[in-house]
Amino acid sequence: MNYDLIIAGAGLAGSSLALAAAQQGLRVALVETTARPAAQQTGYDERSITLSYGSARILAGLGLEAHIARNAVPIQRIHISERGRFGVTRLDSREEHVDALGYVINARLLGGVLQGALDTQSNVTWFCPARLTAIQTDADQVHATIDSHGTLQRLSAQLLAGADGAGSTVRKLLGIGVTQHDYRQTAIVAQLTSTRPHQHTAYERFTQSGAIALLPIAAGRLGLVWMQPADAARAALALSDAEFITQLQHHFGARLGSFRDLAPRRAYPLHLSCAQAQTHTRSVLIGNAAHALHPIGGQGFNLGLRDIATLAQLLADARRMGSDLGSSALLDQYVRWRQADQQRVVRFTDTLVRVFESPSLPIAAVRPLGFLAATLCPPLKHSIAKSAMGLAGRLPRLARRLPL
Ligand SMILES: Cc1cc2nc3c(=O)[nH]c(=O)nc-3n(C[C@H](O)[C@H](O)[C@H](O)COP(=O)(O)OP(=O)(O)OC[C@H]3O[C@@H](n4cnc5c(N)ncnc54)[C@H](O)[C@@H]3O)c2cc1C
Repeated sequence: MNYDLIIAGAGLAGSSLALAAAQQGLRVALVETTARPAAQQTGYDERSITLSYGSARILAGLGLEAHIARNAVPIQRIHISERGRFGVTRLDSREEHVDALGYVINARLLGGVLQGALDTQSNVTWFCPARLTAIQTDADQVHATIDSHGTLQRLSAQLLAGADGAGSTVRKLLGIGVTQHDYRQTAIVAQLTSTRPHQHTAYERFTQSGAIALLPIAAGRLGLVWMQPADAARAALALSDAEFITQLQHHFGARLGSFRDLAPRRAYPLHLSCAQAQTHTRSVLIGNAAHALHPIGGQGFNLGLRDIATLAQLLADARRMGSDLGSSALLDQYVRWRQADQQRVVRFTDTLVRVFESPSLPIAAVRPLGFLAATLCPPLKHSIAKSAMGLAGRLPRLARRLPL
C-alpha cells in the first residue's frame, strides 16, 4: 500500500498523468469511483475533444502517436465567424507550416486508448471502483483512505494528485476554496452529417443563439457543440431531430450545405470553476479539479495536459536526482511554471464567452474589428494560431517533442 504517487480520478486527466508517471518508473495507485470499462466513465462519453497540436505532441511522447493517428481527425483549417456581421478569421495549417493545427478525437476512444496503455504498465495499481474519502499528511508522506464497497483501505505515497473532476473531493478535503461562475448556458453535443464535406475544417460561429462549433470527425461526419443560454437549450433539446436541424441550419447558414443524420443530443451545463490554490502539503490538483472551463475554445483538456506534462517532467527529474517527489520546492516550481499559461487560457476563454454573449452595442460594434485585425495583421493571426495550437509560453519537454 506504499506508492510514489496516488491519483484520485481516472478521467482523461488522471489517466494521462498515471501513464506519464508510470513510464518514468513511478509506482502509481490509481483510484477511480466508476467501474471499468472506459465506456462507463463520465468523462469518457461521445463528446468530441479538440486536441491542440501541442497536446498531440504530448500524447505522442507518451507512446500514443499511432493511436492518435488511427483515431483522430486532423484539423487543417479553422474558420471563425459571426452570424450577420462582417468579418471572418481563417487559420490554416499551411501558413503555420504544420500538417494539422490540431486533431479531433472522440472522448470515449481517447479514454480507451489511455486505459489500454495503462494496462501495459505493471507499476500502476488500480483501485476501482473505489472512492477516495479522507486525506492525512505527515512530514514524509500523504495517506489516502479509500472506500471500496464499504471496505476501507489506506494508501500512502510521497504525492497525491486530485484528478477527480470539477466537484473534486480531494480539493474539498484539502480545504482549498473554488471560484465559480455559472454561465447559465448549456452545451448541446451531437454528431451529424452535411451534404458538403468538412474538408478538415473546424468551424466556430458566433450567433445570437450562442456559439456553434462544428468539428471534423471520422466518416466525414461533424461533431457539434452548440453553447446556448440555458432556457434556449432546454427548448432546443425538446425539439424533434428535424426541427433541431432546421434551427441549426438557420443559425449556422449554408456553408456546409444541408445537415442530416443527427445522433442523440447530450446536454452539459456550463460553469467556470478555478481552485483557489493548485497545491497543498504533498498534494496537487490537476485537470477539472484545478480548472474547469467553458468549452468555447476547446481548451480545457489541452490546458490540463500541459499541466500534466510539466508535472511529469518535474517528477521525472526529481526521481533521477533521488529527491522527494512531494516536496514543497517541487510543488512551488510547478505552480510558478504553470501560472501564466493557466491564467491566460482561463482569461481568454472567459472573455470570449462574455464578449460574444454581450448584447451591449459598443461591444457588439467592435467585435468585427477583432476579426478584421486578426485577418489583416499576420503577426496577430500567427499568435492566435500559436495559442490555439498549444505552443504559446514556456513548454514542457513533451510538448517540444523531447523525451521526459
Ligand atoms: C461539452 C464539452 C466539450 C469539451 N470539449 C473540449 C475540447 O474540445 N478540448 C479540450 O481540451 N477540452 C474539452 N472539454 C474539457 C474536457 O472534457 C475535460 O477537461 C477533460 O475531460 C478532463 O476531465 P478530468 O479528467 O479532469 O475530469 P473528469 O472527466 O470529471 O474525471 C474525473 C474522474 O474522477 C472520478 N472521481 C470523482 N470523485 C472521485 C473520488 N472521490 N475518488 C476517486 N475517483 C473520483 C470520476 O469518476 C471521474 O472518472 C470539453 C468539455 C465539455 C463539457
